[in-house]
Amino acid sequence: MKIAVVENHKNIIKEVEDIKLDGRKGAIVQVYGCGLCGSDIVKLRTGVAKDGTVLGHEIVGKIVEINTDTDFKNGDRIVSSHHIPCFECDFCKNGHYSMCKHFKSTNIFPGGFSEYIYLSEEHLKNVAYPLPDDMTFEEISFYEPLGCIVRAVKRAELNKNSTVLVIGLGSIGFLSGQAFNAIYNCKTYGCDLIQDRIDLANKVDIEAFNSKDFSEAEKYIKDKTNGMGVDAVFMTSGADATINLALKCVRSGGKIVVFASTPKNFGYANNEIYYRELTVFGSYSPAPIDLKTSYELLTSRKVKVKGISTDYNLENIQQAFDDTINNKIFKAYIKIKE
Ligand SMILES: [Zn+2]
Ligand SMILES: [Zn+2]
Repeated sequence: MKIAVVENHKNIIKEVEDIKLDGRKGAIVQVYGCGLCGSDIVKLRTGVAKDGTVLGHEIVGKIVEINTDTDFKNGDRIVSSHHIPCFECDFCKNGHYSMCKHFKSTNIFPGGFSEYIYLSEEHLKNVAYPLPDDMTFEEISFYEPLGCIVRAVKRAELNKNSTVLVIGLGSIGFLSGQAFNAIYNCKTYGCDLIQDRIDLANKVDIEAFNSKDFSEAEKYIKDKTNGMGVDAVFMTSGADATINLALKCVRSGGKIVVFASTPKNFGYANNEIYYRELTVFGSYSPAPIDLKTSYELLTSRKVKVKGISTDYNLENIQQAFDDTINNKIFKAYIKIKE
């Protein structure tokens, strides 16, 4: 089978021996496609992904071999996430499933950018779902990234009809605005510097505008919120400067959801947090319950994703990485089988 393997900060296509169940519980899945996640790019660039790693985790495919106590059977179209919590440790008991040691150690094998993968019984039982007939592989490939977003949106614990500003309208911003609307019926604003992204967001009930000038962006938000600022700001931008924009646009007593790493790893002003009673918190990766919500939002089409990905075949995977880094496309989907 073909895999895309990391070598010297690039993806190289290699032919390796097929994987089989060999008596194990679980399933072998023929991967039809795998979304390219921002975290794959960070891992490749920083070297967190060592040579020999197969990246990719937003997988969809068809079961070709199975041995399991679940309802899944051979030939089923399936979507799965890659990590599973133990449900028993102190992190899990406190709801911080993505901090669980077991969560971090579990994975699909060898990785999503591969013609076939092994999914364990644990995956099948906790984080995998069958595809409805009317859904394409490409649409359901947003299951894992939307799961991450759902977790962050739930952790914000907003009241119904709250106001939200999403900073950064790439695919994560586009999905999170829709998730806030679906879960809390929010009035959601969004900002970015790229006009195509602003236009796309406006089509899914995110009132989007250009934030090139921060003081104008602040004025825009204040005018819309009786001078108050929004109840929550959702940070999807990896630019350090946007931290200041968030502090300007959030109302006193409001919340800032940190959902991206920033180069300087530095930023939220202590005194603003103190005097203005701000809550700044992060959210990382999804728990099984968040994935369930994600699946429901996608299959009910409350969150719309149709037509937003650009397809690349496995041989062109490095192009997909490069085009994503250069903001040439919105979201890459590696189509491994037609
Ligand atoms: Zn991801
Ligand atoms: Zn645990």
